[in-house]
Amino acid sequence: MNPSRLIATAIALVALLLPAGAGAAELPPPASTRLVYAPGKIVPIPASIPHEAGDMVDKRIIPDLRWIAKRFPLYVTDGYSGPLPNGTHVGCDECHTRGSDHYNGLAVDVVPIEPSSHCDSDWAAITSLALWAEPVQNEPVPPFRWVGYEGDAGHGCGNHLHLSWNHAPAAQFQLAEWVEVFPVGPAEGETTPRGRRARAPKVAQGPAGGISQAKFGGLSPRGGGD
Ligand SMILES: [Zn+2]
Repeated sequence: MNPSRLIATAIALVALLLPAGAGAAELPPPASTRLVYAPGKIVPIPASIPHEAGDMVDKRIIPDLRWIAKRFPLYVTDGYSGPLPNGTHVGCDECHTRGSDHYNGLAVDVVPIEPSSHCDSDWAAITSLALWAEPVQNEPVPPFRWVGYEGDAGHGCGNHLHLSWNHAPAAQFQLAEWVEVFPVGPAEGETTPRGRRARAPKVAQGPAGGISQAKFGGLSPRGGGD
């Protein structure tokens, strides 16, 4: 294939991929949600979801996150923030407010997949995602607990979008007893280490790799926000 043909093919491929994000604004909100009582675990975010190296979340939100990332091109800048059982710290330290869902691994901060610190067209998909999760300010659609974007200090177009999932009250650095999620199809489920698809419902299944222990100590009570 000659170079110009190669470029044309690449452009055509990009055009094929774009509608997923471009049409996302019209996506209906999740039709239903459910509470996942399967044990949580802080695990690395899979490679299929663009993210900052080392970022981790509670595995129970990964199918939702994968579903979202497929439709809204995004880059995760932070997930779980806190200690791991081996004593190391993961995530952005002292970035989040007291009681943040980041301390339970049930929140993510996202920015455009094309880095941009200005509110430009690169943010269109992130803005669409924010409106999908919270069509009316301070009224997040279940399973989301808190959405930080326009109108929320330290968030918004050109800054970042915060998404939290509803969950059972949990102390800082503890896994919540349950997490509310929206069901996703098999394509969004967790993959095995060999890359095979696991069968639905993914969130109720066994360990997905990552850290070796499910629980880790912690103290403080939790409150709201980002
Ligand atoms: Zn956040």
